[in-house]
Amino acid sequence: MATRVLVVEDDISIADPLRAGLLREGYEVVLAGTAAEAFAGPEVDIVLLDLGLPDLDGRDVCRRMRERSAVPIIVVTARGDEVDRVVLLELGADDYLVKPFAFSEMLARLQALIRRSNQVAEPMRLAVGPLTVDLIRRKVERDGQVIELQPLEFALLEYLMRNAGRVVSKTMIMEHVWDYNFDPQTNVIEARMSRLRDKIDHGFERKLIHTVRGAGYVLRETA
Ligand code: CA
Repeated sequence: MATRVLVVEDDISIADPLRAGLLREGYEVVLAGTAAEAFAGPEVDIVLLDLGLPDLDGRDVCRRMRERSAVPIIVVTARGDEVDRVVLLELGADDYLVKPFAFSEMLARLQALIRRSNQVAEPMRLAVGPLTVDLIRRKVERDGQVIELQPLEFALLEYLMRNAGRVVSKTMIMEHVWDYNFDPQTNVIEARMSRLRDKIDHGFERKLIHTVRGAGYVLRETA
């Protein structure tokens, strides 16, 4: 089951790309533009909480969330906010980020917290035959040879690896790898898949990514 992230952020120009990026990374995203919406939302696995909200001080939101559950909370503060790290931790926040932050930085913090909070640890490394994917360092190797992938190709490969041996349809790929808002034509998936396949299988006798006619794709060791 996908990890569900609650993004509490009133600034759409920050919330939208965050949401798109997280979806691309395979997370489920719940957006809340106000504290009221944040409290009305479903159960989540982790919270990204902007302190500057229109309806309630983010510090109070953080404290109340912590009173309700042990969900990990990353507080997001604006640059220049006089927010003391100690104060944040006293409020029950697990970590904090200062705007503007890089998506990759946020993702690293998020993943670290999720790993810490998960009782059943997420695998850090996936392997199918000669192919390995290091999910932490985002490094792909085949027979010890590093393969460079674009972020979307990495997400695609990770999805195939997690479902190794199972056929995944284009619809499944669309839902799990692409942003729901962006409705790709199936030929977009085909083009990406063919590029990924070139990188993974080109020059190797044994192919790992297979097309199952009329059904989708499968990653497996045997033909
Ligand atoms: Ca704000």
